[in-house]
Amino acid sequence: MTADAQRILVVEDDKPLRSTLVATLKAEGYAPLEAGSVTAAQQRLSERSVDLIVLDLGLPDQDGMNLLAALRNAKDLTPIVVLTARDNEASKVLALDLGADDYVTKPFGVAELLARIRSALRHGVQLRGAMPIVHVGDVEIDLAARRVLKAGSEIKLSRKEFDLLATLAADVGQPVAHERLLEQVWGSPDADIRYLRVYIGQVRDKIEDNPQAPRLIVSTPGFGYTLRQ
Ligand code: CA
Repeated sequence: MTADAQRILVVEDDKPLRSTLVATLKAEGYAPLEAGSVTAAQQRLSERSVDLIVLDLGLPDQDGMNLLAALRNAKDLTPIVVLTARDNEASKVLALDLGADDYVTKPFGVAELLARIRSALRHGVQLRGAMPIVHVGDVEIDLAARRVLKAGSEIKLSRKEFDLLATLAADVGQPVAHERLLEQVWGSPDADIRYLRVYIGQVRDKIEDNPQAPRLIVSTPGFGYTLRQ
């Protein structure tokens, strides 16, 4: 496994199957991460971005469809291959409608799953090509890979911190209204603006040279924030 091996999150509560998948992916040169529930998967994803998710639907805490829907609602385009024993067509259509890249029914052959994973990863790379990398000062924001570098080193942002920065980056140089940021990151324009102030402070702490005198994320009082180039 190399440092730049593609990271694949395996979300599966069946331990023997998860171990087999992890071992298989490692043997293929990927860097697998694992989770046995939707909550554990969300925890992993808040810690670091991944290149692809293999997602079981029947999970102990929630339906895997919820995770799929939450990621796509948040405009997270990480490729997702759904892996499930549900082989009815309605379930498959729902998963694909929600934005799954592919759907593999158990029992499956490992070679088939690996082929689906390779295909979904290629698709992910194509999407990435369509999404820009935004540069501000010494900060590089890769919108598709959900990665942020400052002076060449990766900065760890939580999911909400990244969503906030990405919303500003999508309109770099233009002021973005408080309401739009609240809607994009917290799901409602009426969310408490104090959350926004707290998270703006956290992102500034991570990307600004001097967070007390921010030069990258500047405030337009009474309106919103601008990510300045
Ligand atoms: Ca299961």
